[in-house]
Order: sequence, then C-alpha cells, then structure tokens
Amino acid sequence: MPEPRQTILVVEDEPPIAETIVYALQTEGWAVLWKTTGRDALAVMQDQPVALVVLDVGLPDMSGLDVCREIQRRGPVPVIFLTARSSEVDRIVGLELGADDYVAKPFSPRELTARVRAVLRRARGPDPAATAATGGWSHDAARCRITYTGKVLDLTRNEYRLLSVLLAAPGRVFSRDQLMTAAWDDPGAALDRTVDAHIKMLRAKLREAAPAADPIVTHRGLGYSLREP
Ligand code: CA
Repeated sequence: MPEPRQTILVVEDEPPIAETIVYALQTEGWAVLWKTTGRDALAVMQDQPVALVVLDVGLPDMSGLDVCREIQRRGPVPVIFLTARSSEVDRIVGLELGADDYVAKPFSPRELTARVRAVLRRARGPDPAATAATGGWSHDAARCRITYTGKVLDLTRNEYRLLSVLLAAPGRVFSRDQLMTAAWDDPGAALDRTVDAHIKMLRAKLREAAPAADPIVTHRGLGYSLREP
C-alpha cells in the first residue's frame, strides 16, 4: 500500500546544492519545499506540516543550529543537518540539539535520500506488524525481544516463548499443557512443574523491571494469564 506523500523541507542557501537535493527527494516520491533562509523555513513550518527538515548549518540570516533549536521547541520534527566543515559536526553532536542525523558536504544525493528514509522510518517507530505495544509491554518479534515498562527483559528461550504466548492474548487463561505445547520444542519431556518453575523465574525478572507490578496471574487449577492492560 503506498504511503501518503510526506513533505520534506529543504533549507539551503546555495541553489546548486538545493536543486540537487530537491530533485533527488522528488525522484524518490516525496513532496519538497525549498527555503533559503532560516526565517522563511520557520515561517513555512507554521503553515504546513513537514515530515522532516534537511537543514544547512550555514544559512545567511541565522545559524542552522538556532533554526533546529526553534523547530524542536515547537514540536518533534526530525532534522538532518548539512554541514560544510567537520568542526560543525562536533558542535552538532556536542550540542545535543535533537538532530537525527547529519550529512557532510560534499555528499551524494543517494546518500542523503538513504538517510532521509532511515530517519523517517525511525520517527515512525517500529513496524506495527512486528511489534505490539500495550500495557507497559512491547514485543519486538523480529528481534525476539520483550520490553516491560521500558526495560528489555533478559529471557531464556523458553521464558521468551512462554511470555510471548501470554502476551499474544492478555486476559486469556492458558493451561499448563497449552503453554508447554506452545513454548517447548519437546513438550512431552516437560512436566507441569516445569511451566511453574519458568513462570516463577519470569515473575522474578518482571519484578526486577517493575517491583510493584505483578502482571502474571495464577488461576488455581487452570493455568496462567497475563493481566489485561
Ligand atoms: Ca550554506
């Protein structure tokens, strides 16, 4: 499914460089606005939403660093700096302006469009198909990583599988048999109390992440569920 066209604002006072960038971004399918001064850039951002700003550090009217500061003050918009000197890179990194990336001149249009694509992908967050985030949980299935209250859990393979099953259906009660079938390669070899032992370990790890929370619920004689968010 094609994504809605996003607008990228290019702030660059040198026409040959700006034209190269505008052309490269348009070729990749983005809508592009071009401004030559910081003031004009900030003004146009008042009027229309911009998905990302490609921002030259050396602008005629104000420093690109100040433009970035003002952009970030208004709201989160990703910024990629264009720098002419390596000394500027140190300043950009050192100032922690919230810039998402920088590209040093001279650069190839392809390098810039690749950076733009990467930053937009990051800004959009993880692929929702691969990640479910709810009730303090975040499950990155592609990386086999589960995060609870912002902390990555250090899980064994069986703990990970067990928690994945519970996480896929919060509130649903799973019997020990169901959990074992879903989480163990050889469920026949595992015992009921193996599941209990793993749940106990999981609870300990979850307590480390969030001492007050107790997200796994025991249903006596039935099994376990994950507390609904
Ligand atoms: Ca410049």
